[in-house]
Amino acid sequence: MISVAQALEKILSYVDVLETEEVPILESLGQVLAEDISSNINIPPLDNAAMDGYAVQAGDTAGASDKSPRFLRVIDTVMAGAISKQEVKPGTAIRIMTGAPVPKGADCVVKFEDTDEAQRKEATKQSSANEIGILCKVKPGLNIRRAGEDIARGSLVLKKGTVIRPAEVGILASLGRSKVKVIRRPVVAILATGNELVDIEQPLPPGKIYNSNTYSVAALVQRYGGIPKILGIALDNEDSLMVRLRQGLDADMLITSGGVSAGDYDMVKDVLAKEGEISFWSVRMKPGKPLAFGTLRGVDQKGAARKIPHLGLPGNPVSSMVTFELFARPAILKMMGKKNLAKPTVEAVLEEPVINTDGRRVYLRAIVEKRENKYFARLTGPQGSGILTSMSRANGLVVVPEDRSEVKAGEVVQTIMLDWDEGF
Ligand code: AMP
Ligand code: MG
Repeated sequence: MISVAQALEKILSYVDVLETEEVPILESLGQVLAEDISSNINIPPLDNAAMDGYAVQAGDTAGASDKSPRFLRVIDTVMAGAISKQEVKPGTAIRIMTGAPVPKGADCVVKFEDTDEAQRKEATKQSSANEIGILCKVKPGLNIRRAGEDIARGSLVLKKGTVIRPAEVGILASLGRSKVKVIRRPVVAILATGNELVDIEQPLPPGKIYNSNTYSVAALVQRYGGIPKILGIALDNEDSLMVRLRQGLDADMLITSGGVSAGDYDMVKDVLAKEGEISFWSVRMKPGKPLAFGTLRGVDQKGAARKIPHLGLPGNPVSSMVTFELFARPAILKMMGKKNLAKPTVEAVLEEPVINTDGRRVYLRAIVEKRENKYFARLTGPQGSGILTSMSRANGLVVVPEDRSEVKAGEVVQTIMLDWDEGF
């Protein structure tokens, strides 16, 4: 038996970072930037008002107060998006809206609240006046956003290798970019195996079960940024497996579920050996002990021969999801050019004792909660690898090391966070 770390290292050694593509910025969310992004503009483009108010010369406000306002002549109004043709000279002011460029001559913006504008409107019932009273002394630069203070022309704004989040999408848009070069998303072909499986579109005959793995695995592929390609269900015979497999040979990775336990070991091994190289492993973990990994002979987008990594997940619904999180997720992230391949973990106080009987690393489905600055983990109930609801109730996986035969309630355990809900 090999360890989880050895299995992961081996899998990662078979996957490479994919090529780049150019996509509309909104589609790039979660992808890795494949170019340096520099700016050829200043953002903001010009000095502009941070508040609605009056653009004035700070010198004109000397000695101003509620009791003795400094009165200035209003010579223009400037809205966001417009540029005033007037120049502020001593004794004058220009009414200005947030975001409007600061007019020539002005060195500060006095906000409405620091003027007598409201009283004036009340008294005259007119929306504009040709005079304004300034009610306090202000310093030069007040309420002015400087040209280029966010992004200076010529500067490197986003580095190659950055993961694109909503803020980066916003930055690209603010630079006027509609498309961006990123590392492309892997296409992951997904094949379920088992005579007992029925597709969700069909009625359920006696003795059969719905194929859930295809959908949970496809959802995981999508969640982590890949593109699932569903190959359907293969029966437990060589012909059926071959026919389905061949439809996935243009993918970047192939994931099968089922057919790797002792009973059907040979069938899958024989077929996959014909189509490539396959190694069957026993990984020292629970759930998910049987795991197949190898490469299949496939073709690239230009039709040239190429090896496709193949991950054979166990059929049990929980095992296939847990092994996906541990092995397929890092492979997908690596293909996408990501550097941080691990899920976040927390140290949690285990709220109930657990027994580990056979020296494997155990991943227990758990509900992790934060109380008074500590994390606590309790199990989701029965931990059978067929109990998919245990996965649905969980937000974390408690890790029991292979060398621990028991962990007592109150002990601290490493816990992989599957979901990092708000509140954490
Ligand atoms: P296997 O690894 O093929 O022996 O399957 C182990 C268990 O998982 C069996 O009870 C299967 O019926 C179940 N199983 C296998 N594939 C799927 C699937 N795609 N959806 C739901 N259950 C499955
Ligand atoms: Mg099976």
